[in-house]
Amino acid sequence: MTEVATAHPEDRLLSLNTATVREQWTLEQIIDGCQRHGIGGIAPWRDQLAICGVDKAAAMIRDCGLTVTGLCRGGMFPADDAAGRQRAIDDNLRAIDDARTLGAECLVLVVGGLPPGSRDIAGARTMVRDGIGAVLAHARAAGMPLAIEPLHPMYAAERACINTMAQALELCEELDPGRTGALGLAVDVYHVWWDPDLEARIAEAGRERLLAFHICDWLVPTRDLLVDRGMMGDGIIDLAGIHRWMTAAGYDGLREVEIFSAETWWKRDPDEVLATCLDRHRRCL
Ligand code: ZN
Repeated sequence: MTEVATAHPEDRLLSLNTATVREQWTLEQIIDGCQRHGIGGIAPWRDQLAICGVDKAAAMIRDCGLTVTGLCRGGMFPADDAAGRQRAIDDNLRAIDDARTLGAECLVLVVGGLPPGSRDIAGARTMVRDGIGAVLAHARAAGMPLAIEPLHPMYAAERACINTMAQALELCEELDPGRTGALGLAVDVYHVWWDPDLEARIAEAGRERLLAFHICDWLVPTRDLLVDRGMMGDGIIDLAGIHRWMTAAGYDGLREVEIFSAETWWKRDPDEVLATCLDRHRRCL
């Protein structure tokens, strides 16, 4: 166990998406690591949460005083038949309940791509709209905001057919026109840094619809489309600039570091990974 040297007030504004060290640590170990390093928040994934047990994880996280910046993840709404779409809806209802048990600030939605064999991306987007519409009342009743995460277009087929901030905001406008805070966005710099309208869309989203802020970096070259994300400062994303736009739009929540990195950070000592996240967070934002 590495003891942590100098805490910095900014450190409480960092949240750790558990995917960042999921290859090295269990959820229990990650919670403990966050506490030892003075990190302020955590965003668990449901597979590790299921292994730990939701109630146990919720109690541990509460005892450590960590903010749960999101539960990853709900979504995956499109399916090739009605039964499949209903299964997805049922799964999202359970995810909303788990997020509530954790006291999460939102449930992150990776909305899903095309059903197998389909070429109908417009149809998939309609299924996403209908799926979110079907669970929104339950989310409202649970007081659990749903955060649509637009994913980089390279994931449109398999993971998310909502690929821009504008598309996500359109869905928010359609399903929650009153800007109640029940539906909004998870802004992940990895997915949206390239968007020429990013500043305007962040401003348009505003405080009510900016539910989460995920940070990492885009490496050049990128060697794998899924598991080669970079540590903040190692790539080409203007993190300070995007952070300024988020702050100007009213976002005052934590910054959640989320790095899938099979060849680099998943192979390092997880205490070193957390220390590096804290150091880069202080310097890059
Ligand atoms: Zn993310």
